Amino acid sequence: VLELRGIVKAFGDDVVLRGVDLAVDEHRVVALIGGSGSGKSTLLRCASLLETVDDGQVLLDGEDVTDPRVDADQVRRRMGVVFQAYNLFPHLSVLDNVTLAPTVVHGRSRAEAVEEARALLDRIGLADKAAEYPDRLSGGQQQRVAIVRALAVRPRVLLLDEVTSALDPELVGEVLSLVREVAAQGMTIVMATHEMGFARQVADTVAFLDGGVLLESGPPAQVLGEPQHPRTRQFLARVI
Ligand code: ATP
Ligand code: MG
Repeated sequence: VLELRGIVKAFGDDVVLRGVDLAVDEHRVVALIGGSGSGKSTLLRCASLLETVDDGQVLLDGEDVTDPRVDADQVRRRMGVVFQAYNLFPHLSVLDNVTLAPTVVHGRSRAEAVEEARALLDRIGLADKAAEYPDRLSGGQQQRVAIVRALAVRPRVLLLDEVTSALDPELVGEVLSLVREVAAQGMTIVMATHEMGFARQVADTVAFLDGGVLLESGPPAQVLGEPQHPRTRQFLARVI
């Protein structure tokens, strides 16, 4: 579904990604791990065309979407992106947050979008919050709405950037279980995460990024259990 080829990204003289290759097959979950500043967010931003790459390609369903002739807005509509925090529009109700992109961007009828949004909200147990504004929801509820909102456009791939790291510990579980459920239903997911236990359980592939280089990737049991690279071992010793 998504393939990153030789992604290079610099901010001024600071080379943040140094030629990253990553292929994400359909229905697969890739967990992106690595220390702070290793380039996880930048890689997800490049993948979702929120940043332009300096070199390399992003392929979505085989199409080079980094080609300047490709309409980036069009491509972004085929991806769902959720960040650490502040994902929801504060001035829109929960329901309007979820229906905005499907109606305005994808041109679905309001009735259809509302019906689907209500079904999604029902699934996460927040149907009764449809008319509320985001600031009336807990952080965990907001993140679940943000994930559901990203799903409402029926994306080809869901990109999650540390969606639980801004949450109080007791709220992390409810967001992770939603991600787990979405993964179980076959969504293709790339998620940057510090939750190693979750990565081990849910990811098909764990990819370790270090200083903008993808040092190691493979099944969780391999990368987390028997890391080959000293830098991976060092990182895991610190976080687990
Ligand atoms: P964390 O775990 O803390 O979220 P990360 O792995 O997501 O870290 P990035 O946010 O991708 O790391 O940052 C990688 C490097 O790129 C950092 O050195 C950061 O300072 C730099 N960087 C990121 N975005 C920008 C920007 N817009 N302008 C300049 N430098 C940036
Ligand atoms: Mg980050």
